[in-house]
Amino acid sequence: MPRPIQAVVHLDALQHNLKIAKAAAPNAEVYAVVKANAYGHGIERVYSVFQSADGFALLDLAEAQRLRALGWQGKILLLEGIFAVDDLDVCAALDLSFSLHSQHQITWLTQFQQINPDAKFDVYLKLNSGMNRLGFQAHEYTDIFKQVQALGNVRSVSHMTHFSDADGQRFGQNGIDYQYSMFTQITGSLAGKTSVSNSAAILRHHHHIQSDIVRSGIMLYGSSPDYPDHTIYDWNLQPGMSLRSEIIAIQYIQADESVGYGSNFVAEQAMRIGVVACGYADGYQRISATGTPVLVDSVRTQVLGRVSMDMLTVDLTAVPQATVGSEVVLWGKSSQGEILSIDEVAAGSGTVGYELMCAITARVPVRIES
Ligand SMILES: *Cc1c(COP(=O)(O)O)cnc(C)c1O
Repeated sequence: MPRPIQAVVHLDALQHNLKIAKAAAPNAEVYAVVKANAYGHGIERVYSVFQSADGFALLDLAEAQRLRALGWQGKILLLEGIFAVDDLDVCAALDLSFSLHSQHQITWLTQFQQINPDAKFDVYLKLNSGMNRLGFQAHEYTDIFKQVQALGNVRSVSHMTHFSDADGQRFGQNGIDYQYSMFTQITGSLAGKTSVSNSAAILRHHHHIQSDIVRSGIMLYGSSPDYPDHTIYDWNLQPGMSLRSEIIAIQYIQADESVGYGSNFVAEQAMRIGVVACGYADGYQRISATGTPVLVDSVRTQVLGRVSMDMLTVDLTAVPQATVGSEVVLWGKSSQGEILSIDEVAAGSGTVGYELMCAITARVPVRIES
């Protein structure tokens, strides 16, 4: 028998979450963000569901190639744009749209007119409205827009920006106001579609902002973009992935005995401990120490002591019937339907659901459940 750890991808949940995104942004085209191999879920695994989105957004040419190989003929947007002039060959061959965030990319696009005079591109000009990672400054944006629009190999120019605080406040104000007002001020009078919203903006702000194309990522996978302000239950999202394993050994420890490396957890009284086949080499965070929630036989309990490479230990006080072979859910849904949200586990580890789902390692077998 293989080691009992397994990641389960729930297609019905992904389908449900996509419906929630469409309902929250009813006037927008909803693009499914599948960067980082669909946030760790696997592009090929989620494709059957997300092909009912209006487009895909990602970063790597290789991932775009995989979508085309699956038969996707619709829109694909490269969120970080091109990394070299040669990438435009691939964009032309695969009909990929891309963001333009810096002058050097415009130079490549200009040069490419000589290299391949027939190629035509849909581009997304990116405004740096305050995130200060990618994009052109407000004062130069309109001139650059006109320059790009005039290029012979540009079919359409859309306007794009990215919010730094769509999930909360910025300097005590509503998180998107500053960026959104700059965006509308600069692009409002220019031709072209707009794309501003990520998951947090779709869920929190779509009643009062306009984004012709929305880029929905994390919410599709069943993690709340603004936890703990809102949980997946508040947003009516379902876990897209469950990380499950089993108890492979039981220990009885006495008061003052410790568990695991560094003797980080010391028992106050005699207790029963379960050893679980899951460790940081599976992608479970080593920092998820004593107190991080887990489900054993669908009952909520906690991690005890340090997570090691291949194992972790859990408190069985609340689960007296648990034994070797009992199901352990590290996050997601138990086979009985009990849910432990990835956001709660992430919060217990000082991180976010995004990081946990992307961190699952190659040695963890994945099963698809429809
Ligand atoms: C990753 C990403 C998104 C998706 O963000 P979520 O918070 O996962 O919805 C949207 N836009 C850009 C530019 C991104 O890089």
